[in-house]
Amino acid sequence: MNVPLLDLKAQFQTIRDEVMAALLEVVEGQQFIMGGAVPKLEADMAAFCHARFAIACASGTDALLLSARALDLKPGDQVITTPFTFFATAGAIHNAGGTPVFVDIEPGTFNLDPRAVEAAVTPRTRAIVPVHLFGQMAAMEPLLALGKSRNIAVIEDAAQAVGARQKVSGTWRMAGELGTTGAFSFFPSKNLGGWGDGGMIVTQDEKLAARLARLRLHGGAKEYAHDEVGYNSRLDTLQAAVLRAKLPHLAAWNEGRRSRARRYDAGLAGVKAVSAPPVALGNEHVFHQYTIRTTRRDELQAHLKAKGIGSKVYYPGPLHLQPCFAPLGYRAGQFPVSEQAARDVLSLPIYPELSDDACDTVSDAIRAFHA
Ligand SMILES: *Cc1c(COP(=O)(O)O)cnc(C)c1O
Repeated sequence: MNVPLLDLKAQFQTIRDEVMAALLEVVEGQQFIMGGAVPKLEADMAAFCHARFAIACASGTDALLLSARALDLKPGDQVITTPFTFFATAGAIHNAGGTPVFVDIEPGTFNLDPRAVEAAVTPRTRAIVPVHLFGQMAAMEPLLALGKSRNIAVIEDAAQAVGARQKVSGTWRMAGELGTTGAFSFFPSKNLGGWGDGGMIVTQDEKLAARLARLRLHGGAKEYAHDEVGYNSRLDTLQAAVLRAKLPHLAAWNEGRRSRARRYDAGLAGVKAVSAPPVALGNEHVFHQYTIRTTRRDELQAHLKAKGIGSKVYYPGPLHLQPCFAPLGYRAGQFPVSEQAARDVLSLPIYPELSDDACDTVSDAIRAFHA
């Protein structure tokens, strides 16, 4: 049995009529830019994330970029983040005029280590960007406390974590709910994927929401009146319509991913060379990825490939060692946990439609490799 890393066609078959009807409505209305589905999706996403405001934009990258632009960074201003993430996290900091400051991660969750963040704070620190990697939220309580005490913004990179929750001071909080802003991506492979690029920023801050809404429309709230130089970063009405049709399914899809993760956990239990991804106390993971660690990673991946099983290494190269950040002066060995993760991790097929048989095919193949 072949098991692809991701099968978006399987999901499409389950929602075909709803999404096609929503699309047709947009096509018939011919309002392709900032049509009615866009503010409706913003309202739906704000409600879903327990946020007061949501601002749709062109991509997850832009959700981060606009969030960082709203900080009005000056040359030399620092933004602390993780080197073990998708490139956009640090790229957005750079493009907004800030200097990315990398600190190491926790080995279990792959998320920012709050003690390392605290140790890296300087008078030039303007923001922290925790990434809720693979669908599990970074430890928000210490990061929010640090942000509050030092007057530092917290921009949540929630691109992989739409619908994830964490208990903060005893209350369940949604990804994106507690940060200065939360940035989401609707890249097709994300847990809530559009049919192209798309993104969303959520915030509780009314003034910030108005600023972000301006920044995404060339910096002007009114047509042809530009208060500052912004971007063309709108979300297409067609994408908003697709996403609105899909959003009501998201909670069940995320539960489906958790159920797939439990099946993998059981299927891989006892395989000594493999560690399953731990869920930290007080977290509800949405398993954007199910990422194992194993010392013979490359051999295992080749074995799975030979059996027709997809898998992928997210991420093979930590960002502090990327050529574009060489001017920042980081060295190999500086963030050992991130560097080890880059050597050990392997993400297995996970999506709500993944059958029990397919799940078992994957874990059996991993067991056979290690037998
Ligand atoms: C996908 C992703 C982004 C960027 O989102 P795009 O919509 O592809 O621009 C940013 N950060 C993380 C962690 C991501 O996984």
